[in-house]
Amino acid sequence: MKKHNFYAGPSILPQYTLDKTIEGIKDFAGSGLSILEISHRSKEFIACMNDSIALVKELLEVPAGYQVIFIGGGASMQFAMVPMNMMEKKSAYLVTGEWASKAFKEAKMFGEVVEVASSKDKNFNYIPKNYIVPSDVDYFHVTTNNTIFGTELKKDPDVKVPLIADMSSDIFSRPFDVSKYSVIYAGAQKNLAPAGVTMVIIKEDVLGKVTRPIPTMLDYRTHIKAESMFNTPPVFAVFAAQQTLHWLKNLGGVKAIQKKNIEKAAILYDEIDRNKLFVPTIKDVEDRSLMNICFVMADNYKELEKPFGEFAKSKGIIGIEGHRSVGGFRASTYNALPKESVQALVDVMKEFEKNN
Ligand SMILES: *Cc1c(COP(=O)(O)O)cnc(C)c1O
Repeated sequence: MKKHNFYAGPSILPQYTLDKTIEGIKDFAGSGLSILEISHRSKEFIACMNDSIALVKELLEVPAGYQVIFIGGGASMQFAMVPMNMMEKKSAYLVTGEWASKAFKEAKMFGEVVEVASSKDKNFNYIPKNYIVPSDVDYFHVTTNNTIFGTELKKDPDVKVPLIADMSSDIFSRPFDVSKYSVIYAGAQKNLAPAGVTMVIIKEDVLGKVTRPIPTMLDYRTHIKAESMFNTPPVFAVFAAQQTLHWLKNLGGVKAIQKKNIEKAAILYDEIDRNKLFVPTIKDVEDRSLMNICFVMADNYKELEKPFGEFAKSKGIIGIEGHRSVGGFRASTYNALPKESVQALVDVMKEFEKNN
């Protein structure tokens, strides 16, 4: 039976990426060696790294003055690297979910941190609006897509201080105005590659302004200067990312994928809104994520939660259990998820409604 992969991360990758990485495991770039055993200093891998960086710049229209790096440590390491490299005294955070809360907490180790607004009062089921960012902060940090709760900040914020974004779960899903941001980071395992690598886009002129000593490996300048080759980078994950970036480019880039993502999300949200058994957890349509779509059983049908999960699984729908802090269901509809998989889930929801 065909499996439909709705996991939140690590998550579905394009078939193209899987096919190309299988090829690369056998023979990487005609080297006669596997990508798993080749030196990161080989000319073949240096070309792969440079091509990956160039593709990121091209697809996201990264302006001059910005650098792209690939490093290990996950998005979670960026929670510390951002304040270490950028906060001299004070920073501000928009607390819109669990990852945002973790980033906020980590920053407190390095100085004064202002919670500009939080949606914790309603279990993070909306994006706060009309908040005021203090003008005396070194930066303002947002999480563009809240993977666990299913909300998304669809407009690039307009602020007068350097803007930092965790885009782990919606990077490459739509265009972003990179020029509005000073740092953008994203763990690869949602929309790009297998786990193990994190992409960071950095505006160079925001660096070098803090007085604290920064450990070499945690200093952005180290990785910029060494073109992501200061130490051994996650070679395999970068190679896989390169394949996904090529796939995305061939498909027409982020505008083309955005169109598909809007279409996919609409199919599923329409069914959640229509089906009497389910309710969406995010009521405000404007705040609804196009990447992680959360829903729970309607009040009169709570006892059907487990049976629905089992029914869906029996039909090949994988990975829709909601995060424990939300419950219910979460369908992740990342770039690589085909529309047919969304349709398969919707068909299962309709069939389950009929049976109950
Ligand atoms: C998954 C996720 C993270 C954590 O990523 P790691 O690479 O596991 O550290 C951080 N932020 C967001 C928005 C995420 O979706």
